[in-house]
Amino acid sequence: MDYTLLVMLLKDLVILPFQEIKLELKDEISKKIIKLSSKKYNDRVLIVSPTSYKEASVDDLPKIGVVSYIKSKIELSNGNLRLTLRGEKRVKILDYKSFSEDIIDASIIDIILPKFEPTGEEVIKRKLRNTLNDLINISPNLSNSILKTVSENEDLSFLTDAITSFLPLPSSKKHEYMLELNSEKRALSLIKDIKIEINYNKLEEKIDNNVEIRLSKEQEEYYLKEKIKEIENTLNIKEDEEELASKYYDILEKLTLPLKTNDKLINEINKLKRTPKTSPEYGVIINYLEWVLTLPWNKSSNENLNVKSVLNHLNKSHYGLDEIKQRIEDYVNIKNINNKITNPIICLIGPPGVGKTTITKSIAEALNREYFKISVAGLNDATELIGSRRTYLGALPGKIIQGIKKCETNNPVILIDEIDKMVKDYKGDPASVLLDVLDPNQNKNFIDNYIEEPFDLSQTLFILTANSIDNIPYTLYDRLEIINLSSYTVFEKLDIAKKYILPKIYDEFKMSKKLIMKDDTLIYLINNYTKEAGVRNLTRVLKTLVTKVVSSKKESMTLTIPEIKNYLKESVNEIKFDKIEIPGIVNALAYTNLGGTVLRVEASIYNGEEKVITTGSLGDILKESVYVATSFIKESDYVSSTLFYNRTIHIHLLDAASKKDGPSCGVAITTAILSKLLDQKIDSTISFSGEISLKGNILPIGGLKEKLIAAYNNGIKKVYIPEGNSKDLLDIPKQITENLEIKLVNNYNVIYKDLFQEKK
Ligand code: ADP
Repeated sequence: MDYTLLVMLLKDLVILPFQEIKLELKDEISKKIIKLSSKKYNDRVLIVSPTSYKEASVDDLPKIGVVSYIKSKIELSNGNLRLTLRGEKRVKILDYKSFSEDIIDASIIDIILPKFEPTGEEVIKRKLRNTLNDLINISPNLSNSILKTVSENEDLSFLTDAITSFLPLPSSKKHEYMLELNSEKRALSLIKDIKIEINYNKLEEKIDNNVEIRLSKEQEEYYLKEKIKEIENTLNIKEDEEELASKYYDILEKLTLPLKTNDKLINEINKLKRTPKTSPEYGVIINYLEWVLTLPWNKSSNENLNVKSVLNHLNKSHYGLDEIKQRIEDYVNIKNINNKITNPIICLIGPPGVGKTTITKSIAEALNREYFKISVAGLNDATELIGSRRTYLGALPGKIIQGIKKCETNNPVILIDEIDKMVKDYKGDPASVLLDVLDPNQNKNFIDNYIEEPFDLSQTLFILTANSIDNIPYTLYDRLEIINLSSYTVFEKLDIAKKYILPKIYDEFKMSKKLIMKDDTLIYLINNYTKEAGVRNLTRVLKTLVTKVVSSKKESMTLTIPEIKNYLKESVNEIKFDKIEIPGIVNALAYTNLGGTVLRVEASIYNGEEKVITTGSLGDILKESVYVATSFIKESDYVSSTLFYNRTIHIHLLDAASKKDGPSCGVAITTAILSKLLDQKIDSTISFSGEISLKGNILPIGGLKEKLIAAYNNGIKKVYIPEGNSKDLLDIPKQITENLEIKLVNNYNVIYKDLFQEKK
């Protein structure tokens, strides 16, 4: 049965059944044909490839075409139509007609393919496949992707079309295959064409081989010429090399090195003399010698061991920090008795901005040692500390040796910053490597991978820092002398600002007039514009204010609260604690990496499934505290156990976004639940810190000083803390102990009596 399709003429291009082609159509007529075909002819279009460009009329067009499926069409921004067509079948064209003024259509009829004798067809298929295989084996440019399709398909017509579209045949040849309806004939022609292609390939290979032989000869000549050049070079530069080598010998002679190291370096210098300048090895040796020979093997700073002057320097640069100052005083005293003692490995632990880095720098200055800082936050690759082997491209010594070289002395103070943020992963464990660097028993013979020879680090004073003790790897922690630097109270900050920060700013700005600011104003600034354990932000805002006052050119240098508000646009949004007006809310004291803080614990209880839920980014330990608190109350006789029947307890910790964990909120959670159940509110000026056991015992906590400072800074008046922490109170600034009512408790009964029973 005949049917009609629109005709699209494809010049220079042939589409075969099963073949997919991509086209970009520019002309309006073709685009129209495709659009109409999609709409009216179920995405089918008849592709006709004219035999010659000069067909005068439709009568000269071929009588065979390929029905093609419009697989996709995309209108591009430049107006072109991008098209993917897939050939479906050859058809016989009965008649071309005029569809519209510029479009023709054709009535077509399917071709009934002749049946072939099965054995004959089988032989042809085998021959076709084998010949194709031979071609693919010999041709470097043809992929074997076609072989699978060919071996899996038995239809001869399909096979011939698939192979024809795969082969790099000229378009005219493909055209012939398109017009040939008899697949057996196509197969025989194809076998012939593939054989011709095989012969071409063989011939090409032969030519290539000849060219290659000739090239090899040329290459040989080139190689010899290069060799001669190299020899000439070596002869010419011989004198330079001698000079360089003797320079290195001179340096080496002036150093007092262990014999083995000395011999090794002599060997290296001799090797340099033998190595041609053009060899890559040459640069490697020079680099190595430059590094090793310029290390401060025997050069030390003359340490200042005058206790008075050392302390003077530290006190001048830093307020408080008594423990570290005391440790340095002890160190100097002992050093004065025995200069050979091993250096301590001090680790300063505290929140950001409390002076860890700057006091270390100040210690270096006070002792008249050089100073170098290595930051190890995020470090996971130990070679960064101890170098990579010379054989690696771009190899360098590690940060320790780099620091030593920079300091030009072998006894600097090296600060290793943020050791609690090192990462242990597949690249190695930097903590264990650091241990070798720090250990006084081993670091006398510290070997950097690049330097390869032992360097004595025992005179170096290592000071480490960390924000929190929790994340210091245990093996390392075990060897450290821990000194805690805690948050500053508002009054300490006031003192630091007046005596240290402002004078430093005046000095830096070379100011003769000083700022006139009342203490209250400074406290207002601290409370409203800084939210930190240390004084880093305070330093920043003070600098801004000084700049503003100076540039305002006003008569006096006074600074008032309204002016602060004017100069500093944004105050930090401390969570301002509203007065507690309803039961079920209490203050808890917590400790984070940034110092102590006051948290609000909220408890809700409502009818529903009998269970406990928690929100507010609670870690596992905190969640357990919630369960323990609930069980403790259920078992106690504070409330009737019927209060829990078919009720859900919901505990929420503000602020919800920041992750919280740690074992010190049990008492606060217990109190929040009881407050809710007994319908008695807790005063906003009370806060709690302590863990609770199932039996109501209150267990000691860490970070008491930080927590009490936070309580004080946040206007808390009374705190309940574990009795087990009483010894830590000696450490708390007097200002706080005098202004906070601190109640030591060892069992929850005491709190219950204080807060609930008395009011019953
Ligand atoms: P950290 O290393 O603990 O993060 P820094 O040593 O960088 O803190 O200190 C931050 C800023 O605060 C520095 O400008 C430093 O001088 C100042 N600072 C911190 N503590 C004190 C202090 N006790 N006395 C004087 N200035 C201090």
